[in-house]
Amino acid sequence: MISNLPETNEMIGELTRLLDELAAFSDGAEPGVTRLLYTPAWSKAQRFLADKMAEAGLETRFDAVGNLYGRLPGTNPDAGVVLTGSHIDTVRSAGKYDGAYGIVAGLAAVAFLKKMHGSPRRTLEVVSFCEEEGSRFPLAYWGSGNATGVYDWRKDGDRADEEGVPLREAMQDCGFGRDDLAECRRTDLAAFVELHIEQGMVLERMEKRIGVVETIVGQRRYAITLEGAANHAGTTPMTMRQDAAAGAAECIVRLEALASQWGEPLVATVGKIEAQPNTPNVIAGTVDFSLDIRHADEWRLNAFSELALSEIERIAVRRRLKHRITPWLSTKPVPMNPSLTRATERICQQLILPYRRMVSGAGHDAQLLAAVCPTAMIFVPSKAGISHSPHEFTEPRMLADGVSVLASMLYELAYEEQRI
Ligand SMILES: [Zn+2]
Repeated sequence: MISNLPETNEMIGELTRLLDELAAFSDGAEPGVTRLLYTPAWSKAQRFLADKMAEAGLETRFDAVGNLYGRLPGTNPDAGVVLTGSHIDTVRSAGKYDGAYGIVAGLAAVAFLKKMHGSPRRTLEVVSFCEEEGSRFPLAYWGSGNATGVYDWRKDGDRADEEGVPLREAMQDCGFGRDDLAECRRTDLAAFVELHIEQGMVLERMEKRIGVVETIVGQRRYAITLEGAANHAGTTPMTMRQDAAAGAAECIVRLEALASQWGEPLVATVGKIEAQPNTPNVIAGTVDFSLDIRHADEWRLNAFSELALSEIERIAVRRRLKHRITPWLSTKPVPMNPSLTRATERICQQLILPYRRMVSGAGHDAQLLAAVCPTAMIFVPSKAGISHSPHEFTEPRMLADGVSVLASMLYELAYEEQRI
């Protein structure tokens, strides 16, 4: 157990200053932060962080895709690396906490440990992953994906952004995508700990200060088309219609009711809907809508998905609508390491921070790292649950709480070399 923790006011000052400085690296005139992969704002932010890591006495390096690492070497080089951090990229018009907080907090925690306790036994590293959000190129987790072998930048750089710029070209223009840079694939990790804002309202509503993530949910996404007959809104009697909009409406209400019956942590969402011809005086002939289903348990995720699709089919048949269901995304739930989850809980108890075990309804880099090393994920509250918005906010003292938990955890893993 760690004997001293960063002084709260000092930590608050350091975190908010760094977050504000990072937020200034942003593209465009839109409100909030826009820092898409391999853009000038992204590049400047990564190089700014590299300087900050070097100032804290860490050995810095970029790998071939632009993931940035700051290293505090351990005295036992065979014991593997304890890694912490998150992603530097943002969605368009983002807030300043998503991703950035995990990096800044990781840097603050490691700098504090170095100052107070010197060299760890296990090597400690802070990472600023180059990309997680999937906002510029049609893929996500490019940073952690290359670190864990899900992607290989030598093969997977063909996809282009909206302007037709291939990923490989954008990467090389930023000075990456070169063989002489550090190898991306990490095979030396002893553990990964990601600290992140919750991006939901559960902690705030429950008046908890820390979320201890047990599982990152699995997801299924479908594109659904209902096809009826576009016809005159005035001359087609109600009994003679094949109304795709009414069919879609019935599906949406039914899916909401079913998902509510199943209860937490299941969530099902129709977030996108498009009617054709989309005209006030014409019955909708075709409606396309999306369906997003998430659950922490794979069996239940599959069972609900099957039920949802069969309900859509039943409604379509009864209404004499043709239906087409195209699955386009399927990920499994990813459990975090149980002994690290218990350790996080114990640390919260020691620090007298009210906490809650919870699932993460959003995807994170931690779900990729969990495939290659014991992984833990820690949340701090998000005001009103708002995220991916300039209004994203976390109370500064809660930012400091997260660093205290993270520093304690890193101390146990790297200095006490606790078994995982
Ligand atoms: Zn994030």
